[in-house]
Amino acid sequence: MLPFNIPGLTGNEEAYIREAFKNQKLSGDGLFTKKCHGWFETNFNVKKSLLTTSCTHALEMSAILANIKEGDEVIMPSFTFVSTANAFVLRGAKIVFVDIRPDTMNINENLIEEAITRKTKAIVPVHYAGVACEMDKIMEIARRYDLLVIEDAAQGVMSTYNGNALGSIGHLGCYSFHETKNYNCGEGGALLINDDRFVERAEIIREKGTNRSRFFRGQVDKYTWVDLGSSYLPSEINAAFLYAQLEMASDINNNRLLSWNRYFEGLRPLHDGGLIELPHIPQNCEHNAHMFYIKVRDLEERTELIEYLKQNRILSVFHYIPLHSSDAGLKFGRFHGADLFTTQESERLVRLPMYYNISKEDITKVIENINSFYGVGQRYSNKIYTN
Ligand SMILES: *Cc1c(COP(=O)(O)O)cnc(C)c1O
Repeated sequence: MLPFNIPGLTGNEEAYIREAFKNQKLSGDGLFTKKCHGWFETNFNVKKSLLTTSCTHALEMSAILANIKEGDEVIMPSFTFVSTANAFVLRGAKIVFVDIRPDTMNINENLIEEAITRKTKAIVPVHYAGVACEMDKIMEIARRYDLLVIEDAAQGVMSTYNGNALGSIGHLGCYSFHETKNYNCGEGGALLINDDRFVERAEIIREKGTNRSRFFRGQVDKYTWVDLGSSYLPSEINAAFLYAQLEMASDINNNRLLSWNRYFEGLRPLHDGGLIELPHIPQNCEHNAHMFYIKVRDLEERTELIEYLKQNRILSVFHYIPLHSSDAGLKFGRFHGADLFTTQESERLVRLPMYYNISKEDITKVIENINSFYGVGQRYSNKIYTN
């Protein structure tokens, strides 16, 4: 069976983990954690980055930093992973879901302003598939209403918007290094802090609510409990693994883009023929080929296609039952305005196998099978060119 995802390896992971052993420092904030922080700060031009145990935890830290309290409202799309909402619900927020744009599956920036109330505290844009939301417009609204912008850039590491790294544009940005993401360490994440106001408190929240970081830098003479917090820092073993991936980030990115472009070109005739829809990348966005998805006619056709591919030993998946229609979403959130696209478009979406070093042959096989599902012959198969 052609898998949907294989966690990428660059080759240096084991050596770096061994080095962490040799350093005799396995808990958080050792040499490799610092190397990862430096890498983000240099390459993505962010003021401060902090590795976390997951993107979920980076989002939870953001909710604490934003001082979210019972009854506050947070605006986000409904087409996203549960953690985007859960992190704020944990602090008592009501989630206000706004419809997405059908072209990028991202929050429709033109619907945000009308969803703002006196209780609104933050906007959480999710960069779906590593393709940026319209951040200029979102930041402009946030400035006018004095709201915080927390980017869920779990899928957006190495993507840009107008040349700026995703995660570096809002007040706070959150990354994921879960094994299904472009750069991974099994489970992991990072909080990017682009507003100085949050730096010191973020370190405290991440270290169980203590001023341990300041103590180790010699800035205070006792180490004590000073604020809310939890244990949000990953071990050096995770950081060592992750650093091996970050060092190869360009290589991984180029490799994924190559595969993405192969899918795009190979499936273009079906798109041009009106049978499927291909992803749209706006002009001012550079994406990171996090995923390759297509949109088919409707839910029924999607179920048939996934089953057809499975019979031909290819694993394809769909995701995100819109949060507003889930049990928890009904309880903790409300949808503002009409759901014109969230449900409809989510039911049409299929994700194809996509990972670092997926072979050209495997991609061709997927394309051929999608073609034959739609009754199109083997026109695009390798065979025609090699025979
Ligand atoms: C993967 C993902 C998360 C959660 O990441 P974890 O590191 O697994 O906690 C959050 N939001 C989005 C949009 C994601 O894709």
